[in-house]
Amino acid sequence: MKIIVVGAGIGGLEAARLLAGAGAEVYVVERAQDVAAMRYDQYDDVDADVFGRCGLPVPHGSFAKRDWTFVSPRGGVREMHEANPDLSVDRKELNRMLVDGAKFAGAEMIWGAECSGAIVEEGRVVGIEVMGERAYADLVIDSAGMDSAIKASLPGNMVITRHDDDEKFSVYRAFFKRNEGAAESEFSNKAYLKHSGEQGISWVIRRGGVDDVLVGNVGNLTVGQMHERLNALRADDTGIGTVIEHGQGFFRIPVRFPATRAVADGYAAIGDAAYLTVPMLGSGIATSLRAAHMLARSLFGGVKEGGDAVKATAIQNLWRYQVSLFKAFADHCGADVMRRGVLALDDATLDFLLTSDVLTNDDVCALAKGKMPRLTLGDALGKAFRAGIKNIGKLTPVAAMLSKAKKAARIAADIPRSYDEAAIFRWEEKLNKAVRGR
Ligand SMILES: Cc1cc2nc3c(=O)[nH]c(=O)nc-3n(C[C@H](O)[C@H](O)[C@H](O)COP(=O)(O)OP(=O)(O)OC[C@H]3O[C@@H](n4cnc5c(N)ncnc54)[C@H](O)[C@@H]3O)c2cc1C
Repeated sequence: MKIIVVGAGIGGLEAARLLAGAGAEVYVVERAQDVAAMRYDQYDDVDADVFGRCGLPVPHGSFAKRDWTFVSPRGGVREMHEANPDLSVDRKELNRMLVDGAKFAGAEMIWGAECSGAIVEEGRVVGIEVMGERAYADLVIDSAGMDSAIKASLPGNMVITRHDDDEKFSVYRAFFKRNEGAAESEFSNKAYLKHSGEQGISWVIRRGGVDDVLVGNVGNLTVGQMHERLNALRADDTGIGTVIEHGQGFFRIPVRFPATRAVADGYAAIGDAAYLTVPMLGSGIATSLRAAHMLARSLFGGVKEGGDAVKATAIQNLWRYQVSLFKAFADHCGADVMRRGVLALDDATLDFLLTSDVLTNDDVCALAKGKMPRLTLGDALGKAFRAGIKNIGKLTPVAAMLSKAKKAARIAADIPRSYDEAAIFRWEEKLNKAVRGR
């Protein structure tokens, strides 16, 4: 089986390693000139268990992330204590490790090659256009991120999920040298919800003499908004300097539930191209690595000697990968409901939610990992009553949001197990309504 992976994204590289290792002829086409030129010069938080689960070593230089403190728009704070904290991973080390792994397994890296679109014949993706050349394959794996050119080039009659404007998170991030002699702020990892009244978050992660600063909005982020938010962060913590150490850039991250259609004949999307992030919190690295194993498992039969490559790369078979995604990440649909709901809450209610102890530490940890909290309306009311909270009316929108989120996660997990267009259409309609209300 011949496979072209477009984009040296996290999931694409791991899928390349697994499929080349199983005997497929795999090419990874990446527009960056080499691994050092890949765009992220930053630390990312990754589920500590995922490397062992995928049979990978922990990237060199990783360290345990410190606990988040959430800050409400009114300044209320809520600390989160994780029993099993994420690892902060040097993205350059991770990229290098995944590229080396794919190469060692036999995949060929083609650097400095920008793919402009897919070649589609009789409703099937049969290859890609790259730098004016045509390259053919049994399968194209789209690992080119949320704004994938290959996805954009697919004809309208190939049903592949695309995002709306309110499903992208526009981000500015930079690592600033901390002002010398500045007082230490009380919390090391601070996340500001609805920061400066915007539909988004900001964070400051202090490590040694460097502050990792991010400001992000759902939808667009203008340069003016970026400066305003940076000033607001500096007003809160005068230690944040103006000299950039590394990692400055504008980025986009998907903040929506996974694509309900990540596959077509001869095509499978992975990583951000399939929206495999936890809405609002990123975490696309762990989900992309896990998704690569799901995709590879659905293809091993076609890769082995004597396997039927055409059958293995048909949508009927690739649907098994789609089902695995929704079995594993159904809760992301609930997290998306929570993300939409939390950003729509008024400041007072959000402040109440963070500071009132209605959510336990376990609930906050579950939400941060994109999992549904255990909390029920009964629990919440009981707690509020016992704590003498008068503002019980504030719980109504929160409770409605929680039950909507749990319902969306249940619908998501109920994905049709085999490829049946009519059943899939009905499921998608139900899920879209539950999450997006349309
Ligand atoms: C600021 C920021 C902070 C983040 N923090 C975290 C975090 O803490 N934890 C976490 O798990 N995740 C985090 N993420 C998300 C994480 O980076 C992604 O979810 C993850 O990398 C999966 O995306 P991807 O690899 O599929 O796509 P991308 O990272 O977008 O990679 C796509 C690759 O495809 C290449 N490419 C694109 N188009 C073409 C083309 N036409 N031809 C050839 N090559 C192409 C690009 O050069 C790139 O190398 C963060 C993202 C950002 C932007």
